[in-house]
Amino acid sequence: MTTSSAAPVAMPASSSAPTSVPEALGSLQNTSVPDLTAAERTRIQAKAALFAPPPARTADGRKDLVGLSREELGQAMVEIGEKPFRAKQLWHWIYHQGATDFSAMSTISKPMQAKLAEHFVVGRPGIADEQTSKDETRKFLFRFRDGQEAETVYIPDRREDRGAVCISSQVGCTLSCTFCHTGTQKLVRNLGVPEIVGQFMAARDSYGEWPSPAGDTPRLLSTIVLMGMGEPLYNYDNVAKAMKIIMDGDGIGLSRRRITLSTSGVVPMMARCGEELGVNLAISLHAVTDELRDQLVPLNRKYPIKELMAACRAYPAASNSRRITFEYIMLRGINDSDAEARELVRLLKGIPAKVNLIPFNPWPGSDFKPSTRERLASFANIIMDAGYSAPIRMPRGRDILAACGQLKTASERRRRAETLADTPPLPAPNSW
Ligand code: SAH
Ligand code: SF4
Repeated sequence: MTTSSAAPVAMPASSSAPTSVPEALGSLQNTSVPDLTAAERTRIQAKAALFAPPPARTADGRKDLVGLSREELGQAMVEIGEKPFRAKQLWHWIYHQGATDFSAMSTISKPMQAKLAEHFVVGRPGIADEQTSKDETRKFLFRFRDGQEAETVYIPDRREDRGAVCISSQVGCTLSCTFCHTGTQKLVRNLGVPEIVGQFMAARDSYGEWPSPAGDTPRLLSTIVLMGMGEPLYNYDNVAKAMKIIMDGDGIGLSRRRITLSTSGVVPMMARCGEELGVNLAISLHAVTDELRDQLVPLNRKYPIKELMAACRAYPAASNSRRITFEYIMLRGINDSDAEARELVRLLKGIPAKVNLIPFNPWPGSDFKPSTRERLASFANIIMDAGYSAPIRMPRGRDILAACGQLKTASERRRRAETLADTPPLPAPNSW
């Protein structure tokens, strides 16, 4: 297959001029030149607001406490005539102990428990489906209050008692990368803070990992990768608030070093992510020329490779001990030549980087084929010879369609078939 046979791709929605990082940096020194990066950020966030999630309330009007910041939690207490200090107590029960029922909050008096239950819930997304693969990977199909669904995958380490939770940030995706199954699904909406935090908390429920392990105590659900459905930097505000809750040391307390956000290259949001969250960054690169990347990752037409690499060089949270991961999906005969491996090495110069080679996970309707083993090995060797680590990401959970790029659409199809014969499973109490 040639690159020109890849499905036609749409330009990203905005018609505004692309922003270059050098241009934007120049504008910092010369105030008469508009800061195009700031303008782009404003545009991206205005667009995100159009896909805002519904309010986090139950059908009977009770507010969900999950997803509120500490300040908002204090405010919620004031709204019911209580002192804001209650927020500290509740934070502990919700995020450290994992309690979902006020009656389990033993340091709170019975009348107060009843009052809280009258106004609030501590919610979890409903589990519409849960499957465990032969390799122990577990995939959750979560159903939210408005009936929208998203998938989350837990990928246990094969050797140690730890593992990564792969979290979704949107229902669908606007970006239509040609190799990605999620990209064939239109963006329905952004996920809200309680829905993002809730994916992790519900996965922890499933493994009974409460209370939150303190400090360096080993954890089964030990890392988060924002690599599920959607583009996290197109839903930055909700993702950022959710990650801040998850990182809070009085609750779940997962370190920013254990969180990796993957982006297809939303350049104007990258610095902000590094400054505010300081999480690890992964870049879905997949091609070393703009010509090919324009086809595979259409967002490249707006933010081409040069600007993307400049933003990586400037990423505030990267260092030699915290390298940026460059994800590179290996597509047979498309992007897997030795020459491309050498060009990749050249592009990475000056960036604290590691490379993750991802064998393409096929899905029905896609023309791409995974690279051969020999190609993978030869490509990996060139990168390793240049001094970068280049592990090949072994696909996990393929039997349950939980591998990279296989999320959602397939399970949606399977469930649709099931619902013809059966009633859909109901969300759990307190759930969305
Ligand atoms: N939207 C973000 C986050 C999703 S991460 C991003 O694109 O980075 C999903 C990862 O899986 C990305 O690196 C993506 O390129 C990769 N991926 C998508 N489809 C795939 C497929 N069919 N096989 C293997 N990896 C795929
Ligand atoms: Fe969206 Fe990422 Fe899939 Fe591209 S690879 S369509 S950005 S989820």
